[in-house]
Order: sequence, then C-alpha cells, then structure tokens
Amino acid sequence: MPKRTTCTCVGVDIGGSRLSVGLVTSDGKILALRRLKTPREAGAEECVRELLEVARAMVKEAPTENPPVAVGIGFGGPVDPTTGTVRRSHHVEGWSDVPLAKLFSEATGLEVHVENDANAAALGEALFGAGYGCEVLLYVNVGTGIGGGIVIRGRVYRGAHFNAGEIGHLVLLPDGPVCPCGKRGCLEALASGDALGRRARELHDAARLVRSALAGAENLTGRMVGEYASRGDEVARTIVAEAGGYLGWTLALAANLIDPDVIVVGGGVADLGDLYLGPARSRYRELAMEYVSDVSIVPATLGYDAGVIGAAAVALTASASEEIPR
Ligand SMILES: [Zn+2]
Repeated sequence: MPKRTTCTCVGVDIGGSRLSVGLVTSDGKILALRRLKTPREAGAEECVRELLEVARAMVKEAPTENPPVAVGIGFGGPVDPTTGTVRRSHHVEGWSDVPLAKLFSEATGLEVHVENDANAAALGEALFGAGYGCEVLLYVNVGTGIGGGIVIRGRVYRGAHFNAGEIGHLVLLPDGPVCPCGKRGCLEALASGDALGRRARELHDAARLVRSALAGAENLTGRMVGEYASRGDEVARTIVAEAGGYLGWTLALAANLIDPDVIVVGGGVADLGDLYLGPARSRYRELAMEYVSDVSIVPATLGYDAGVIGAAAVALTASASEEIPR
C-alpha cells in the first residue's frame, strides 16, 4: 500500500493555449486549481507575470495542514531541467532562455523544478494514472503534435541532451510529409491531429472524398476528421485508422528499444478511443518483438488535469523521494 503523506506541491502547466496552476497533494489529488488563457500576443513576460501572481496567491492561501513544499513546472517546449530554464517554445514567441525556476523561486520562496510537459505528464500517469505501479512506462501524447516521455521506476528518463522520449520525431517515411521540426515523415507528420487534417485536405484536393461527408466541408481540420469518424463516416475512419497504424508502428520500434511494461496514450486524438487505438494495437502486435508484443497500450486516465498533476509530480519526486507512492 502506498504511504500517505500530507505534503502538497504547486503544479504549473504552461501550454500554447492555456495555463493552469494547481495545489496537488502527494497522492495526486487537486486541492485548488486556477486556469488561465495563455496571453499569446503579450509574450512570455506577461505570461510569467500572470503565473507568478497566481502561484504566489496559491502558496499564501494553502491550508496550513498541507503547506506546499515545492513548485513543479511543465513547459510545452524544450527545457534545461538542471538549471530550470526554458530553452524555447515551438508555439509562442518570446520564450528564449527564460529562467523559470529562478523567477518562481523568488516569488514563492520554494524550491522549483522545471520539466518538459510531456515528461511531466508521463510522470503523472506513472505515479497517479494509467501507469500506476509500473516499472518502465512509455507515454505518448497525441494532440495537435506528438510528444512523449519515458519513466523508469518513478523517475523521468531524460537522456544526455534532455531529448529522450521525443517519439513524435522518429522518422518512418523519409520522403513523407513535412513535419514542423523540418524533417519529413516523422510520426508527428503522419499520426497527429494536424496530420489527420492534412490527409483529409489532400484527399479533398484530389477529389477522393467520394461518399464522405468530408467532401462538402471547408478548411478540413483534424478535429473535423475525428468528429466525422466518431459519427461513422467511413473515409474519416480510414484516415484515423491509417494514423493509428503509424502510431502502432512507432510504438513497436520504441518498445523493442526500451522494453516498457505499459504504454500510455493521452491527448485529444487518443480520445477517439478504439477508432485510433485499435489500429495502433494491431500494428503494434504485428511489428513488436516477441517479449514486448503483448504489452498493453492503454488510454491516459488523468485527462484534462494531467498537466498540473504531472507538473506537481515533478516537484514531488524531486523533493520527497522516499515518500512518493509508486
Ligand atoms: Zn518531426
């Protein structure tokens, strides 16, 4: 049985469209939560100013029996977790070498730990979600793009350049569609929400959407493809299934290499459930090696709050290693 503790941490999730700050207990329960819209136009400085204000207030108003012991931050882009600095953002201008740990530490008086958001979500799922009790977890977030993280015995595996877990940029088709990273045929370019939209537009332009409701739609997006697939449109279902197949292929490559005991898939596209994950599982079973081919591929369970819980998990594991339930 996991030990019960009474400490809390502040989790801060910084994404391209929304920001969340939460007070989270060491068994993964959210005691307080604030959500804000990312001030994209106003830039990084304004975003940090708003977050510092909310975090400071949350620390001040925390229940005295559960005082926060640290702050964990999950950021949607590359970070240097050893210095707590954001390297840059792929989605919002102005995030270059921002010393988040220093700024939050000055504002709250607490220890601060910064991690890439997919790594943070992976840790959250390993400690409190779909991967509870696992030894080696492979996490993939399939939304607009594709991120991932590896957690080994309750710790994020970061690699030598903090680049481990970047499953979205494993190249499957070197002559395939262009990926936002600049290469071609990455998993992200083939199986993300944006990839679903791109594939539908290609078929639309080639007048290959016969007998599909998508044929009459304008400006096709991944979200629209998902909605039509859920309503039973066969062409939309085929687009989703092809994307799921690419995910399964990539999971098989990754699993042969790291030998996980569970694979957790989160994000908006994964919410399509078996329409996407069914083909991913079939392709995975076909391509993974004997000893990993029956590893479960399961949906993430922390849902909308995965970012905040994951960010708090980063702080919890960094500051209270013995007391973390596994
Ligand atoms: Zn890429």
